[in-house]
Formats: sequence, structure tokens, C-alpha cells
Amino acid sequence: MRLITPDKFHDECAVFGICGHREAANLTYLGLYALQHRGQEGSGIVSSNGEDFFHEKGMGLVADIYTKPVLKRLPGQMAIGHNRYSTAGESSLKNVQPLIVNFAFGNLALAHNGNLINASMLRSELEAYGAIFQSTTDSEVIIHLIAHSRAETLLARVIDALSQVRGAFSVVLLTDDSLIAARDPYGFRPLSLGHLKDSWIVASETCAFDLIGAEYVREIKPGELVVLNSEGVTSYSPFAKTRSAMCVFEYVYFSRPDSKIFGGKAVYLTRKELGRQLAREAWVDADIVIPVPDSGVPAAMGYAEGSGIPFETGLIRNHYVGRTFIEPEQSIRHFGVKIKLNAIPEVLEGKRVVVVDDSIVRGTTSRKIVKMIRQAGAREIHMRISSPSIVSPCFYGIDTPTRKELIGSSHTIQETRKYITADSLAYLSLDGMLKAAPGAPDHYCTACFTEDYPIPFTKAEEMQLGLFEPSL
Ligand code: SF4
Repeated sequence: MRLITPDKFHDECAVFGICGHREAANLTYLGLYALQHRGQEGSGIVSSNGEDFFHEKGMGLVADIYTKPVLKRLPGQMAIGHNRYSTAGESSLKNVQPLIVNFAFGNLALAHNGNLINASMLRSELEAYGAIFQSTTDSEVIIHLIAHSRAETLLARVIDALSQVRGAFSVVLLTDDSLIAARDPYGFRPLSLGHLKDSWIVASETCAFDLIGAEYVREIKPGELVVLNSEGVTSYSPFAKTRSAMCVFEYVYFSRPDSKIFGGKAVYLTRKELGRQLAREAWVDADIVIPVPDSGVPAAMGYAEGSGIPFETGLIRNHYVGRTFIEPEQSIRHFGVKIKLNAIPEVLEGKRVVVVDDSIVRGTTSRKIVKMIRQAGAREIHMRISSPSIVSPCFYGIDTPTRKELIGSSHTIQETRKYITADSLAYLSLDGMLKAAPGAPDHYCTACFTEDYPIPFTKAEEMQLGLFEPSL
């Protein structure tokens, strides 16, 4: 058997939490269902009735894991949930969150979206003090830091623990009487607060609120920690202040277009504006504009609007292909990208085509797409990318390939164009991308395009993350 893996950034994780609803686990299931795009490897829910914790988790998709009997085993008015894509740690059930422990302060469960750059160092220190880790995730470090803290209350211990980790975290924690949600001071990953009748909800993206009929209240601010319980919402700003570094790629690709993130409007509007800006910067004389579905659709619509070139659908995506597709051992042929995408020759034949995609990672998929469109009869193919060239990996929760595998790190635009065999190739400029994203340009992390990492690395971290090449 051969496994085909996608040539894109892998999605990251999703978190969801609800407090004060007698259908807490059912609503968490629905919330996780809406957030499926952020992680398809596994999912877990922990619920609480104020005395005991109840825990269910599994590998695979949300709809397959949470059957009626499974949800029945999750009573209580509070629950947190997590969808996992492994950005740190191996792929196995023991790494599926929420992580759950019982210690001197009672029950505690944690769900984390993001990536901690000093997790290995902290883990070694904790292990030297006798900590025994149950998983290989960086998130478990937070649990151990809470358990080892000398602070007197559980809340103070959570703050103490989160103050020691460096990197990206949007976390939800369940205790016996409260739900705690926090976002790292840079605000890398999104986290929003919602309200449904008498209950409070936190979720990675607001599309989770829409599905359950909850109202969007506001984003959890970078560096903010909120406690949700029967007394309502209490907000704290316990972490040292720093610049914001919200992940601009959430707008380009990761978040669902119908979500609001970072306190802004629907992602769809920004994605469309990225396309308009791209048309301003990289217009080309052509007959039709087509997207690489699905993530390239809003940007292609924006490009068509901005350029005056008609929008068409030239590629169809099969929505039922999972994250990986297993080819039969005795395969008649190599399916490649065809398993996911198919071209419509009647649309493309004889046409000069602008193809809009959100990013090029390794370049292998773009090359196959160009070939497919050419075989369908296109006369010219002009690739337009609604973000700048990706030159460096992400260390804040997005599972990017290594620098070596990123075509933008070793190839000029001309070389990449040649590799993907397009007639022309243009990326959106950094300024253009930041102009299209809402708010101040310096509020965003752009490190995968610029190598300007918002959190300085120690030499040891550079070595460990493969950033530092020792001289021979
Ligand atoms: S490095 Fe790129 S993907 Fe990672 S947080 Fe920064 S902008 Fe987002």
C-alpha cells in the first residue's frame, strides 16, 4: 500500500469549550464538527458534572468518533474538546487531546492549539525532577508545569505554567468548577468567546458558534486569560506584554472563510481582497480566471473582480477524499493529484487561463495542476498566488515541511515557474498581503515569508529546530 499525502501545509488543531449547558458534550461535538478542517487525525472530549470527569477520544474524523452511545457517556454541564493534527509528537491515540490528570487540585483537562518552542528543554528539566510523561506532545509540558508549580491556587499555577512556555498557545482547561481559556501574548492562533443562553463558549473559530446558534461576543485578546464559571466571565492579563504576532496565514489558508478571526470580519472578505490586490499587482491578459479549489476560490473571485477577467470553474475537487488516500497495491496507474482534482476540458480548451491558488509549498502539486490544465487544452497558464513565496518553516503550530522542502527557499520565482511549467508565475507581495489583512500590518506574524520570527530563538533551539547550521 502506498500513502499519498497532501502537498499543502497540514492543518493545525482546534479547541472548543463550553460552560453552563446541560448539553455541553453534544454542543462540543457539534463545535468540533464545524472545526474539522483544523485537524483530522483524532479528536477528544472531556466533560464534567462538577464531581467527576468523563473522557472519550478516538482517531479519525469527528462524525465517526462521537456516536450516540459515546456522547451519552459524557454527562455534565461543562466540556472541552480538541481536534488534532500532529504538529508536535507522533500520530497515536495517546497524543489525542484533551489531556487529563487528577492531582492535588482535583481533576484537570487541557486542550492546546499551537506549538511551544521550548517544550523539549522544559520536558528534559521536568523529567530530571521525576515527571513521567504519558504522551509525546509538547502540550503535556503545560500539565506538568501546573503540577510542579509552587503557587497556592490552581489559577495561579496555570498562570505560572503558561508564563514559562515560549511559543504559540490558544488553550482551554477544564477544572472541577471552571473553564479557563488563554491565548499567548503574541496571539499567534485565534480564540473567540461566544454566548448561548446562560452558557459561555470558547472556540478556535466562530464557525463553531454559528453551527450551535451561539452569539459571537469577542476574541480572547493576545495575552488574555479568562475564567468561565457560574459567576460569568472574569478576564486577566497575567503575561508580560509584547508585540502581537497573529498568524497572517490564518487569513490566507487555514481558517474557514465563514469564520471571524482576530476580532475581524469574515475571513472570506479578506481572502477576496487578497485576490483583488493580486490583480492590481500581477495583471495578465487572459480569457478566464479559475481557482484551485477549495481554498483558492475567494482569492480567484477577487482576482476576477479586480482584473475584469471572467471567473470560471475549470477544476473540480472530490470532497470525499480524506487527508490521505491509499492507492491499491496493484494499481493500474499512478493517480497523483487526479484523485483530488479533475479538469473540465470544455472550459479550458484554447483558453489563456489565470490559475489562482493560495500558496505553493513544495511545488509538486502546482506542477501536476498545470500539467492537468495543459492536457485539458489550455493555451496559456498563468499561475497567481495570493500570498508571498514561502521561504521558511513555521514553529508556531503549523506543520510545514522543512526549509529544504520548500521550493521558495531554494528557487527564484523564474526557477519555480520553470519547475511548475507555467507560462508565468506571480506571488502577492508582502505589503500587498498585509494591506489586504485587517488592522495594522505590524500585528501579524509573517515569519514563513520573511524569516522574521517574532520570538527570538536560543542557540540550542536553533540547533534543535534545524535553523542553525554549524560551520564545519
Ligand atoms: S510562521 Fe507563517 S504559518 Fe507560522 S504563525 Fe507565522 S505566519 Fe503563521
